Amino acid sequence: MAGGKGIPYIASETCKGCGLCVFVCPESVLCIDDTVVNSRGYHPAAVADPERCIACISCALMCPDTAITVERFSRSKGG
Ligand code: SF4
Ligand code: SF4
Repeated sequence: MAGGKGIPYIASETCKGCGLCVFVCPESVLCIDDTVVNSRGYHPAAVADPERCIACISCALMCPDTAITVERFSRSKGG
């Protein structure tokens, strides 16, 4: 019951803070962290609510800089 189905990893130094991943995520997992500035001068995306991730990989597909990798958690069969 507890926990999401996966977790997105964001390469915050690659991210340009465009917000597309935040927009596309159906579960509002992601946010732009305006308390952080990366070495390129952007506020990078961050994981705000990891428990909600359904591992749909929409964020990874949408990111123009391929800054997101989604790890899908494996579950034992029969559930
Ligand atoms: S994999 Fe899907 S649910 Fe998880 S953060 Fe990305 S868009 Fe959101
Ligand atoms: S879509 Fe990619 S570049 Fe844009 S904010 Fe999300 S992680 Fe950063």
